[in-house]
Amino acid sequence: MKRRDIIKSLSALPFAGSILASLVPSKKVQAAPPPAKRDLLKELGVRTFINARGTITFMTGSLMHDYVLNAINNSSKDYCMLDELQDKVGERIAKMAHAEAATVTSGAFSAITLGMAGILTGMDLKKVEQLPNLQDGGMKTEVIIQNGHKIHYNHALVNCGVKLVYVETAEDVDKAVNEKTASMHFLGSAVFHGKIQHEEWLALANKHNLPATIDMAANVPPVENLWKFNDMGYSFVAMSGGKAIRGPQSTGILMGKKEIISAARLSAPPRGATIGRGMKVNKEEILGLYVALERYLSNDHDKEWKEWEDRVAVIEKAAKSVKNVTTNVTVPPVADHTPTLQISWDTDKIRLSGDGLLQALIKGSPSIEAYGGGKNSITVSPWMMIAGQEKIVAARIKEELVKASV
Ligand SMILES: *Cc1c(COP(=O)(O)O)cnc(C)c1O
Repeated sequence: MKRRDIIKSLSALPFAGSILASLVPSKKVQAAPPPAKRDLLKELGVRTFINARGTITFMTGSLMHDYVLNAINNSSKDYCMLDELQDKVGERIAKMAHAEAATVTSGAFSAITLGMAGILTGMDLKKVEQLPNLQDGGMKTEVIIQNGHKIHYNHALVNCGVKLVYVETAEDVDKAVNEKTASMHFLGSAVFHGKIQHEEWLALANKHNLPATIDMAANVPPVENLWKFNDMGYSFVAMSGGKAIRGPQSTGILMGKKEIISAARLSAPPRGATIGRGMKVNKEEILGLYVALERYLSNDHDKEWKEWEDRVAVIEKAAKSVKNVTTNVTVPPVADHTPTLQISWDTDKIRLSGDGLLQALIKGSPSIEAYGGGKNSITVSPWMMIAGQEKIVAARIKEELVKASV
């Protein structure tokens, strides 16, 4: 083959670029430009904004700390065995959260699916492959949940093929339990929406010899909730890694009884022919979550709380300086448990609706996302902002309220 023909045939191969480069006289090789610092979101025309709302999935959750990004960067230079890493990180997380065992999942949602899979299959590999076809494997098929705990995330259980049986009272639970019942699931953020509280729920599960499981994805802060539900005796606990903990948004934690976590991992990557194979977490994310959690535990939580209160105060003061505006600071009792500011006004004196103000904030520069826009109010939660942004939010809200004042 002539040199020209070699080049021609090589160019059809996937790795041809580098081989070709070695064949071309060196002075003609164009060195690749050094990777420039690119602002990719700007380049793509994707709107960025100040988050005055909280840990919202469609708003990309939370911002990872530098130490999380460092962990991701540093660990990206080596290979390791995915299972070995999960073993070691799981052990550490379990210790931090008072659980017998733990594993990193791709979000709280996947923690619930994998935990449910573990309950259904145990260590039976044949059953693992049969999921979600429960009847084929002779597996249990029903999960009991309170009416007040209905949430779209319960679909994480349905993914395993189970049927959700909704109940209202303890008597309903007694009636609902049968030989097909696999477990009893609780929604941590709905504790006040259901008739049955944690202790009674766990006692009922105990009485019927069923595992009790809990979705507490957004129940931190307070930090104690990290271990509280393990201490209470829930068989598995699912939480998000990319909310208050500020790990990668695509991570979560499944923790609880050793036999359930071990069984759950049979349905998790790297194993194929499982319902969980699509729920992969890479080593960098596993380690990112691990350091995020470690760091979260060592935070000065009182100081952080005070910072959030200070941010609320800055925005509250600016809003209240406008005539006919009233404010109210509350803390949601469970889930998104942080200082939250409601700003309301008299629409006879300020010609603006709540939705109108939200839209004006979105369209402004920088763009700001607040929430709860009603007829004459909006809500602001400053805990996921970058420190200092509260001043911009305060000024923008004041500006719009003044502009609409008659
Ligand atoms: C956010 C959330 C989930 C889902 O968590 P991911 O980590 O995004 O998978 C599930 N349940 C509740 C109550 C949540 O708030």
